[in-house]
Amino acid sequence: MKFHIHTYGCQMNVRDSEAVEAMLLAAGHEKAAGEEDAELVIVNSCTVRQKAEDKAVGKVGALCATGKLVGLMGCGVSRLGVDVFKVLPKLDFAVGPRAFWRIPRIVAEGKFPVLELGENDVPAGLDAHAERGFQAFVTAMTGCDNWCSYCIVPAVRGREWARPAAEIVAEVESLARRGVREVTLLGQSVLRYHGFPSLLRRLCEIDGLLRIRFTSAHPSGCTDELIAVYRDCPKVCRHLHLPVQSGSDRVLAAMGRRYTRAEYLAAVEKLRSFDPEFAVTTDVIVGYPGETEADFEETRSLMDEAGFDNSFVFKYSPRPGTRAAKLPDDVPTAEKERRNQVLLDDQERRGLERNTRLVGTVREVLAEGPSKRNKSRWSGRDSGNRIVVWDVAQGAALPPLGTPARVRVNEAHPQILLGEVVS
Ligand code: SAH
Ligand code: SF4
Repeated sequence: MKFHIHTYGCQMNVRDSEAVEAMLLAAGHEKAAGEEDAELVIVNSCTVRQKAEDKAVGKVGALCATGKLVGLMGCGVSRLGVDVFKVLPKLDFAVGPRAFWRIPRIVAEGKFPVLELGENDVPAGLDAHAERGFQAFVTAMTGCDNWCSYCIVPAVRGREWARPAAEIVAEVESLARRGVREVTLLGQSVLRYHGFPSLLRRLCEIDGLLRIRFTSAHPSGCTDELIAVYRDCPKVCRHLHLPVQSGSDRVLAAMGRRYTRAEYLAAVEKLRSFDPEFAVTTDVIVGYPGETEADFEETRSLMDEAGFDNSFVFKYSPRPGTRAAKLPDDVPTAEKERRNQVLLDDQERRGLERNTRLVGTVREVLAEGPSKRNKSRWSGRDSGNRIVVWDVAQGAALPPLGTPARVRVNEAHPQILLGEVVS
């Protein structure tokens, strides 16, 4: 059967979709050229904010009207539970994030509708990879036990579970043999992985592998041991996505984040003290219940003090069943919108300032393909995950993807660096 998978949400979802793709291919199905051409369409949903869930549900609703076989997977399925068929009466099958590996069997059996939540499952098929070029995501941990007050992830993705290190190492070795140059280890709070620094050291020894990234991180994981790995292992990329959520100690405590503003800033300081170019990016929530103007200004000032290279700002969205959902959602939508815009404007300025410091430096990049905006330019990322774009001579042969290049930066923008290749 010709299939197409449509993915919303985070890298874990991207990874799960890729595993499903690999398993469907192994079962003899075929990738459709696009959604139109597909007989089976699967939507992988996100529910971290209500808007994200609505998008996936809307998409599935439209697909159900086409007469194709339609499946829903991902976090939205866990949240909706049995109600999924009330919301989407024509849906054929729905599979929770711990049960995605059952999709090939469900399709083969052909008995619809079915709902499989797989609550207590450790997902199988975590090592199934479809061709994705020189980069690959690798699952290190699934689920989450942190229960931040606003967050639905622990409820929908289940208990935290860590894959055995030997499995991760074997998977990365096999990927490297297949030409993968860059892996990103995934987990909601991946630094909680027991013995993470030694896992990184083992992965660094793998021949052919050039880069190791991982996400997301919690400041408590920025230990001296981790810093020592950064110092010793150039393959470990100089970038950490360290979601801060708020700069106000009062709000951080209410969120149950288990660090203070000072502890967070100390972690950033530690990362930058061994390399001032170390890139730190973050997530922030504006309009958490009870967030005052003063709390918000603390978030603003923290973001400047931390000097984030990039940031993702989210307007607080109450999630049913979370502790925060019991509190009044009392910051008006227009005010959330305003705070969001202020932080985006700040980030534009800050991103430009930080990138301007890199003008004249040489960035080591891996070529990723033609630039999105200008196809006569080539694009890649440096170790800090910064997008670097350079001109290629007309008619020049395109470098194979994943080829290392050295690019001298001539021009800085808030989100990208422009430059030229040096030999
Ligand atoms: N595990 C990661 C975050 C995963 S969710 C971590 O803790 O580092 C991705 C981001 O979505 C979060 O960092 C947070 O900024 C945002 N988010 C989560 N729940 C939200 C909610 N209820 N409303 C708005 N944003 C939310
Ligand atoms: Fe959600 Fe907190 Fe877990 Fe991240 S650490 S997934 S924000 S509960």
